[in-house]
Order: sequence, then C-alpha cells, then structure tokens
Amino acid sequence: MFEDSYPPRVVPVLVPMPAPGPYSYAVPEGMIVMPGSIVRVPLGPRQVAGIVWDGEGGDVNPKKLRPITQVFQCPPVPEEMRRFVDWVAAYTLSRPGMVARMVLRAPEAFEPERAVEGVVRTGLVPEKMTAARKRVLEITENGLSWTRSGLSHASGVSTSVIDGLIAQNVFSRIELQPPPVVAVPDPGYGANALSEDQAAAAETLKAAIDKGGFQSLLIDGVTGSGKTEVYFEAVARALEKGRQVLILLPEIALTQAFLDRFENRFGSRPAEWHSELSPRMRERVWRQVAEGRIRVVAGARSALFLPFEDLGLIIVDEEHDPAYKQEDRVFYNARDMAVVRGHIGRFPVVLASATPSVETRVNAQQGRYQRIELASRFADAALPTLKTIDMRKSPPARGSFLSPALVEAVQDTLARKEQALLFLNRRGYAPLTLCRVCGHRFQCPQCSSWLVEHRFRNQLMCHHCGHHEPSPEACPACGALDHLAPCGPGVERIAEEVVAQFPEARTIILSSDMPGGTKRLRLELDAIAKGEADIVIGTQLVAKGHNFPNMTLVGVVDADLGLANGDPRAAERTFQLLSQVTGRAGRTGKKSVGLLQTYQPEHPVIRSIVSGDRESFYAREIGEREKAMLPPFGRLAGIVVSAETRAEAEGHARQLRRAAPPAPDIAILGPAEAPLAVLAGRHRFRLLVQGEKRSDLQGFIRQLLERAPKERGSLRVHVDIDPQSF
Ligand code: ADP
Ligand code: ZN
Repeated sequence: MFEDSYPPRVVPVLVPMPAPGPYSYAVPEGMIVMPGSIVRVPLGPRQVAGIVWDGEGGDVNPKKLRPITQVFQCPPVPEEMRRFVDWVAAYTLSRPGMVARMVLRAPEAFEPERAVEGVVRTGLVPEKMTAARKRVLEITENGLSWTRSGLSHASGVSTSVIDGLIAQNVFSRIELQPPPVVAVPDPGYGANALSEDQAAAAETLKAAIDKGGFQSLLIDGVTGSGKTEVYFEAVARALEKGRQVLILLPEIALTQAFLDRFENRFGSRPAEWHSELSPRMRERVWRQVAEGRIRVVAGARSALFLPFEDLGLIIVDEEHDPAYKQEDRVFYNARDMAVVRGHIGRFPVVLASATPSVETRVNAQQGRYQRIELASRFADAALPTLKTIDMRKSPPARGSFLSPALVEAVQDTLARKEQALLFLNRRGYAPLTLCRVCGHRFQCPQCSSWLVEHRFRNQLMCHHCGHHEPSPEACPACGALDHLAPCGPGVERIAEEVVAQFPEARTIILSSDMPGGTKRLRLELDAIAKGEADIVIGTQLVAKGHNFPNMTLVGVVDADLGLANGDPRAAERTFQLLSQVTGRAGRTGKKSVGLLQTYQPEHPVIRSIVSGDRESFYAREIGEREKAMLPPFGRLAGIVVSAETRAEAEGHARQLRRAAPPAPDIAILGPAEAPLAVLAGRHRFRLLVQGEKRSDLQGFIRQLLERAPKERGSLRVHVDIDPQSF
C-alpha cells in the first residue's frame, strides 16, 4: 500500500526526544493527519507517540522513509500550543522534542476513554413484579440512564436483579460517556459580596477579559487582602464567555483548602494537575482538558503544557514563588511562560502576590503589566504588628535557640488559647554534625554539602542528592564515641526545645521530609486550621497561602538565615519569605504579632519587613539591580558544565568560553565553580553570560555551543536562561 502511493506524502513529526527538530515520516495512503495530530511512529526499534508538526516534511531518501503507524483518536494539539512549544524551546534553548515531551505527559490519554456500560428503561414492564424490581423501576421512572452498578447501589438490589430486567427487555444496554473528572463550575454559584477595593480590582480584570486579547495584570495586595476572591471574579467572567481557565499554584498538592474555597464559589472543584495524581487520573484529566470537558484546572507549573482546547485566562497565584522555576531538562519559569502563553493565545494573564518579584514590579512600573493594588486586609483583619528581637540584647539560654522574649510571647499566646507558629527554614535536626574530639564534619560523599541530621529518621541526609546514611555512633575519622555534636538548629531541634518548654502544648512539625508524605501534611494543615494544635514549628511550607484563623503569633527563629548567602537575590527572597510567613498571623481580626529574632535589626531588609514599608524595599532593590545591570535591567544566562571529574568539567567550561563569538554587548563571567560545586557525584562549573536588556543572549549562546567541541563521555552542558541564583 505504501509503495503504491509513491512518492508518499511526507510530514514532520515531533517526537519526545532530544533531537534538533522534527523527523520526517510518510503518511500511508488512506490515513488522515493534520498538524497537531498525535500519532504513533517507529523510532529505531521502538514505537513512540509524537505530534505532527507544521511545515513540510524534510528531504529524506524515500527508501529510508518510514510510515506513521497509527493516528490516535484524540483532539489534535491546537496551533497555539504548537507555537508555544516552539517558542519555549527557542527561548530556553531546549530541544523542541523535549518541550513536546511535556505536552505528551499522559500516553494512555491518546486513546479515547473507554465508554461505560449503562442501562436505560425501554418502556416495557416486567412479566412478574417483585419488591426488588419495583424499587428499581421507581428509581428509573424519570427515564435517565444509569450504570449497572450505580443502579444496583441506588436501589439496594443485587446486579442480578438488573440483569434479569435486561433479559426481559425492561432495560436496554447503552454506552455511556465516561463520567467527567469534575462537574462543570457555575460562575454564578456562590459569589461573595466584595469590598469596594476588591470590586474595583475585579472590574479591571473583567474589563480585560471583555476586551479580549492579551494583557498582563498584577494583583499586588498584602497577605489577606482578598486577592483570591478578586481573581475568582475573573475566572467567573472567563467561564461565562465559554473559555477554559488555568490557575497555577506553587504547591497545589498542599493547597487542598484552595480547592474547597473554589468549590464554595463555583459549586464544584477545579480539576487538579500535579505530580501526585495517579496515572489513571492524569490520563483522564489530560483527555478531558483536550476535549474541553474540563473547564478549570488548578495545577502546578507543568499544567501550562496541557493541551487546552480553548484556554482564555491564566492566573498565576504567588507569582514570585521559586517553585515556578523548573531546573531539570527544560529550564523554564512557568510565570514567565504563562505570560508568553497568553500572548500567543491572545488572552489575559493575571499574576497575584503579596510580595511580587522584582522583575514583575519593574514590568508594572514600566507599563508592561497593569498593576492593581489592594492595600489593606479584607474586613476587620489587621496585619500583624511586627517587631525585631535583638539577639545581642536578649540572648537565648545556652543550648537554646529561642530568646526569653519569644518564649514569653508564646506563653501569652497559649494563655489566650491562640496558636503560635515558629518558623525556621531548615529541615531536620541540625544542619551540620561535628566530632568534638577531632573536628571531623560529616559531608555528603557525592556533593559539596554537609549532611543534615534527621533525628526522627535517625539518619544523616543530603538535601541536594538524597544520599542518606544511618546516624553514626562513633566518629568515622577518630573513632571517638559519644562526641558527635549537632551544630545549629533545624526545625526538629526547635521542636525539641518547644516540647521541653511547653510540655502541655500540642505541637506539630511541618516539614516536607517528615514521615507520612503529602497525605500527612494535608491532614496536619487541616488540623492546624481547625485549631487542633497550639504550637506549629515549620519550614517554608507554612509560608504559602494558608489561612490559619486562630494563629496570632509568628516567631521567626532566624531572620538572618537567608541574608547570609552571597546571592544577589537573597534580599528579595528573605523579604518575600518573611512577609509571607508573618502574614499567616491575624487573618481573622484578632490582634496578632510577628517577632523576628535577628542579630542585625538595622539591616535594611529586616527594617522594611518590620516597618511594613514595601515600597521602600522595592525602590531600593530595583535601584540596586539597575546599578548592577542585573535582571530585569540586564539579561543573564547560566551555562553549567558537569562531568565526573573536576578537570573535565573545568576544561570544557574553558573551551566554551574560548568559543564565544564576538559580541560587544555581551560579557562572559567565569568559569567558576557552580553554586553547588559537586552535585550527585558530578563536578560542576558555571559560566555566566551577561547582556544588556536588548541583547540576543540566545543567539550568542547558540553560536557559542555550535563552535565549541562536542560533549563527550560524561560531559553534560545545560543552559539556564534567567537563572534563579546569580
Ligand atoms: P489573599 O489571597 O490576598 O491572601 P484571601 O483571598 O485569601 O486573601 O482572603 C483573606 C481572607 O478573607 C479569606 O479568609 C477570605 O475567605 C476572606 N475574604 C476575602 N474577601 C472576601 C469577601 N469578599 N467576602 C468574604 N470573605 C472574604
Ligand atoms: Zn549529596
């Protein structure tokens, strides 16, 4: 058949591989494909799913050309999505196939969902009536169809009763469409009355949706100002217009409360999309999004690559959150790519944050994003009063990490039957273990980082590569027993101190590595919200978006922690994290306090957090970035070279540098050891490419990589456009 139609029609197919572009395949006679069709094609000895791409198939020796095996019965990937894939690949300097791979994340979904067997009344009545049959007939009187098991369940009879009725033609079998993952949300279901500020903000968003076309908007409002409530109105308007909506959240697996809230507003939950979905659920969601049956998805960054049939709005909640950056295979920032997606799809994108990123604030300042401000908390809730505790003046007792002032504040909070949160962004018991006899420090055998003691697990763990080993009893260097000393605190150690100080209080540690995983964390977040804990000790997990109505004290154990590292983003991150975490307090009108333990209360970042003067923080931070030509005033990219030996990695990095094409507006810094010089046994060197705002960094790096020697052996090179740390 294939030979008959010589020369065959040839189409490009993008396969989920790190190939430089699509491969050409022949379309067998009688097969109908179009750009976007999802097809099965041979690739070497295997069969893989790929997407028919735009343009002409390349010139291939017809003898070598292989035919497409199968076209899946699946909606084609829309043109917008294909352009998005190309755009992301070009911007991030990734292979387009690797971006397509993110679209094709649910292989079983390409075949239609299996229909469910159902039954429906025919109008005939059974020859012999029994009590059981009567019940079945009563329930089905309205003529609606049922699944066999659903009907048996609802009428309380065994399925054999129903089979008997089918045999007598009282019911006939039909094929039912598989049930939707979630019900269709109703934009008019449970709208709250908005405050004046909220209403004005919601009007701006709705106007953008009515106007149609692309626009970026930023809801910049303090914690608890009701941003969610405001963007729900935009969601409602997009739904009324018949468009699909994507809500991106940084920690969707842990924001179950958000789903409840959505349900209160829209009468049904959004479909979830994140890494913890079961494979079956993934397939169903993917398919139903492609078919347009799912109208709203709440998802992690990867939801951006779902093949929406008619996406008309993206919300990026907590747009500043580092979790939006993927640093694996395709390095991308989902916040920025969401804006691109809106641009390509010609619809509005709404970013929301209490502590917007400096990049986003500059975009707003320069008029690219429309900024909508919500300056005060909703209703009578007041922001917490923030104060520093000067650790030089109020030092903790020996072996303790909580100053007397903080302990007293916790006592007062408990006496009022309210909740306290102690925040320390460090997992485990102690970040370093030291032998007091010989000074040996426990280091990860595969990384340049210290092993962190986890007392609950009785292990030393590496937070970078996952290496772990049983907690030792003796020093491996000198053999001394019982002289291993934990240095510095992690949340587990703070919890130990809290339990000793407040034995009566109910305490909960919230940290991503406590036993029980996400399920346990969800239960605990729920328990805290219900007031079933008195003192919560948590890492940055607790900072994110949660509403704890009875929490009136937030104590930051070490406000200086994030400021110590040399990263130019340290100030921004610390400002965001501490504003967010103290923002957990006082969400329901009770008076609340945030206390920051610090050795440098006069530090400008600490000062702007405590004074609540966000504007001075942004003004200073933006000024410094501009002076140093750092993003968003200049452009940056990292080129990280890794290899099994240090010499190989460093040598190749130097060769890359020498391969740089001439460019007056672009400078290369390094190579220097990457922020983690050894990771999972691989040595890492980094070049930083710095350019002016208008520089073509991508073009420059592409040329550089083309001119450099090929990667051999264990060498790997990856490019990180707009790196998080610089
Ligand atoms: P943000 O997202 O800005 O932190 P939220 O949207 O979570 O703020 O609102 C803070 C609290 O105020 C929530 O408990 C929310 O239910 C409540 N809230 C906000 N706006 C309204 C409103 N218009 N009507 C009733 N409750 C509201
Ligand atoms: Zn490690």
